[in-house]
Amino acid sequence: MKRVLITGAAGFLGSHLCDKFISEGFHVIGMDNFITGDIRNLEHLKENANFKFIEHDVTEFINIEGGLDYILHFASPASPIDYLKIPIQTLKVGSLGTHNLLGLAKAKNARILIASTSEVYGDPLVHPQTEDYYGNVNTIGPRGVYDEAKRFQESITMAYHRFHGLETRIVRIFNTYGPRMRLNDGRVIPAFMGQALRGEDLTIFGDGSQTRSFCYVDDQVEGIYKLLFSDYAYPVNIGNPYEISIGDFAEEIIRLTGTTQKVVYHDLPKDDPLQRQPDISLAKKILNWEPKIHREEGLKKTFAYFKTLSSEDLYKSEHKDFKHHIKN
Ligand code: NAD
Ligand code: UDP
Repeated sequence: MKRVLITGAAGFLGSHLCDKFISEGFHVIGMDNFITGDIRNLEHLKENANFKFIEHDVTEFINIEGGLDYILHFASPASPIDYLKIPIQTLKVGSLGTHNLLGLAKAKNARILIASTSEVYGDPLVHPQTEDYYGNVNTIGPRGVYDEAKRFQESITMAYHRFHGLETRIVRIFNTYGPRMRLNDGRVIPAFMGQALRGEDLTIFGDGSQTRSFCYVDDQVEGIYKLLFSDYAYPVNIGNPYEISIGDFAEEIIRLTGTTQKVVYHDLPKDDPLQRQPDISLAKKILNWEPKIHREEGLKKTFAYFKTLSSEDLYKSEHKDFKHHIKN
C-alpha cells in the first residue's frame, strides 16, 4: 500500500484530501498542529486502519517512521484574517515548514506537492491570471506575510527540483469552499453564511466591485489529485473561472439562504485584490481537468453543512483564539 503524508490534515482542504486518498486505496498519515484546524474534521477517520494522525508543528523537525511515497504540504493559515493574526507562524510554515517537508521528501525519495495560491499574483495587473504572470505583491503590506511565504515556498520547491532532482508539483489554488470550512475563519463564504444564520447583515468590504471566482472543494481535490500524478513540475492554476463581484455574490447568498437581512459596507482591507479569475487552460490541457460543480449546487451543499453546526459554533467568538498555539 502506498503511503502519503498530508500536512494541514485537520483543516478544510487537508481533511478532504485525506478522504480522497483513503478512498483511492492509500495509507494516509495526517499531520496538523490545530492552529487553524479542527480535529472534528478527522473524527470519521479515527477508527480507519488506513489512517494515522500525528499532532505536530511542521516548522519543527519532522520524523516519520518507515517509507513515504507522496507528501502533500497543505499546512498554512489560509484566511486573510487568520494570517493577519498569526503573521509569523504564517511566514514560518511556508518557509521553515516547506524546507522541512522538502528535506523529508528527499530523505524518503517521495514525490511532494505543495499548496500554493492565487495570492502569488497579488493584486493582479493581468486578468485572468495565467501561470506565466509574475504577480503584483506588496512585500511589506499586511498580506505580504502569506503571499511572500507562498512565493518563497514555490522558489525553494523549484530549487529542490532543479538541484536535487526531487519530484515536485505546485498547485496554485484559487478561492475554494465547501463543508468543513471554519464558520468563523473570516473568509467570505463562511462569513456571509454565518451572518445569514445568525440573522445579521452581510458585511461587504469596500464597494463590492472586487471579484472572486469560487471553486467547490470536490473539483479542487480532483484537480490536485490529477496534478500529483501528472509529470508536470511547474505551477498549475486550479480553480473555477466563473467570476462574480462580491456585491453580486452577497445578493446570491441572500437569495440562497432566504435571509431577510440586508448588506452593510465596511472598509476594504489593505491590498485586497480587486479582481481574481484563474486561467485554467493549462490544467485543461495537461490534466484534462476542469471544474464540474456549478456554484449554486456547491453553495447549497456548503450551507447545508453550516446548518448542521451547533449554536456554540455559530456564536463562538468571531475568530479563533490563537494564544495557546503561539510559541514565538
Ligand atoms: P485551513 O486553515 O482550514 O487548514 C490549514 C491547516 O493547516 C489547519 O488545520 C492548521 O491547523 C494547519 N497548520 C497551520 N500551520 C501548521 C503548522 N505549522 N504545523 C502543522 N499544521 C499547521 O485552510 P485551507 O483552506 O484548508 O488551506 C489549506 C492549504 O491550501 C493552505 O496551504 C492554503 O494556503 C492553501 N490554499 C487554500 C485556498 C482556499 O481557498 N481554501 C486557496 C489558496 C491556497
Ligand atoms: N469579504 C467581504 N466581506 C466579508 C469577508 C470578505 O466583502 O465579510 C471580501 C474580501 O474583502 C475579499 C473577498 O470578499 O474581497 C474574498 O475574501 P476572502 O477572505 O474569502 O478571501 P481572499 O480572496 O481575499 O483571499
